[in-house]
Amino acid sequence: MTDPFVAQSHILHRAFGQRPENVVTAEGIKLVLESGKTMYDATCGPSVSVLGHHQPKVTEAITRQLNQVAYVYSGARFTAEPNEELASMILGSRPGGLSKAIFVNSGSEATDAAIKLATQYWHERGLPNKSHVIARKQSYHGNTIGALNVSGHTSRREIYRDWISQNVSFVDPCYAFRLQKAGESSDQYLQRLRDQLEAEIIRLGPQNISSFIAETVSGTTLGCLPAIPGYFKAVRELCDKYDILLILDEIMCGMGKTGTMHAWEQEGIRGPDIQTIGKALGGGFVPLSGVLLHQKIFDALAAGSKGLLHGHTFQAHPIATAAAVAVQKIIKEQDLLKNVTKMGRILQKALEDMIRPLPFVADIRGRGLFWAVEFLADPEKGVAFPKNSKFCNKVVDSAFENGLNILGNLGVTGDVHVEHVIIAPPYIVSESEIRDIVQLLKVSIEEVSRPTL
Ligand code: PLP
Repeated sequence: MTDPFVAQSHILHRAFGQRPENVVTAEGIKLVLESGKTMYDATCGPSVSVLGHHQPKVTEAITRQLNQVAYVYSGARFTAEPNEELASMILGSRPGGLSKAIFVNSGSEATDAAIKLATQYWHERGLPNKSHVIARKQSYHGNTIGALNVSGHTSRREIYRDWISQNVSFVDPCYAFRLQKAGESSDQYLQRLRDQLEAEIIRLGPQNISSFIAETVSGTTLGCLPAIPGYFKAVRELCDKYDILLILDEIMCGMGKTGTMHAWEQEGIRGPDIQTIGKALGGGFVPLSGVLLHQKIFDALAAGSKGLLHGHTFQAHPIATAAAVAVQKIIKEQDLLKNVTKMGRILQKALEDMIRPLPFVADIRGRGLFWAVEFLADPEKGVAFPKNSKFCNKVVDSAFENGLNILGNLGVTGDVHVEHVIIAPPYIVSESEIRDIVQLLKVSIEEVSRPTL
């Protein structure tokens, strides 16, 4: 049934049956709705508002930039001070040899740009056949045609299959909790994943492969899932062995959420060749995402066509980059990554103490301030909910009623039916707010579990 408000609104809403609530003010970690209700924004929207909802220094930076230079087209002849400053802040220390940035508006555009950049790189090197991308099942890299093409998100792909499924193939994600076989050790599981990826590379022929793309810590589809130790080392080695670019998608997990600026810093690898960033980059004050690239990619372009075959009207918009500079300065000046690690430990413990004992709670996992709770119909026996159960949606709805805004996976992203909710509060979260959030989550899970038991 279509909600009357949605039917009359001139916005095409995503869920026609549900009346969206108008958020009238937002402060710190809380949203105030038109109905007068106040709620915790415990996932920062989709993992975006990492400094909460109001930061005077960001407002000031945006206003200053608006008064100075509101817009320039940074396609060729122009740049702007905050564009250069932001890139230097992120890349000044050359993390993993990454040395240049492209700024775009959304994560999906960043994925598109990353794939195109990888393609151009191989052309510049005289290897135009290297264009195939290997991605992972149950992955999400964005919703434009290009980004969806490399996303193993089955329900989002389905009706567009004639537009996508080109030049891409999918291997298993690293999801030990559900996909490691009974009796299989971690080393054996790792070897199986390595062998599968290598077999796919050989089947396609490395001379035809441009890149491998994966999220460093899987966000929405698999629920804040870090890979098992050694996985990204094995991936990095295979990419090097067969001369394939490694693209790490850190749009959701990056820019500090896991406790380090880049999530890959915790994987013991030298870094990716191309990295995408977004969400936390502008902290939700502005739309902003980006692509970071290794010096070797710049060198190939510089020795070849001397330019980037990609661009958008609003790329590196100075208002967006000015806001992001202010966001990144606050993170640095207030040493907020330390708070991410400290509060992350408190969040993990609270989840373990208060949520783990609840019915249907099967796994609690994450890093920093990026955590998920996975539900199973029978956690003891490892039995998943039936595909139409929508258990986690019910938890999300119940949480909403209880004043807690969280993200849940719809469970329709691939072969394995995954039901989870994400708790990813902002970097400024306090201990008492964490306790409130976890208590509200507990009550919400209990409410939904009662009729199910
Ligand atoms: N990549 C990942 C890992 C994401 O989580 C998302 C969005 O949720 C995207 C890409 C796409 O970003 P956007 O929605 O800004 O286009």
